[in-house]
Amino acid sequence: MKVKKGDTVLVISGKDRGKQGKILDVFPKEEKIVVEGANLRKRHMRPKRSGEKGQIVEVPLPFPASKVKLMCPKCGKPTRVGYKFEGNKKYRICKKCKSEL
Ligand SMILES: [Zn+2]
Repeated sequence: MKVKKGDTVLVISGKDRGKQGKILDVFPKEEKIVVEGANLRKRHMRPKRSGEKGQIVEVPLPFPASKVKLMCPKCGKPTRVGYKFEGNKKYRICKKCKSEL
């Protein structure tokens, strides 16, 4: 997977297209991610005590990582991720400004 937890990404398809958010969780096996504020579903929370009202909260659900582009923190543009190798180390780089991510 090219993105990881904590990255800021831009949603490029689906109903949340254009939204930006931080990756809260990644599921590498399924190639899915959870992004703050994207792919929200309403969940009904039952009241914890009698007399309280149930609440509706919106929670972000996982969706395919292919639907996002990484926002480069250096140049501030949505970009593709490239890799650079130095010895045994692998770095992610922004394909636009070439800086390490
Ligand atoms: Zn960049």
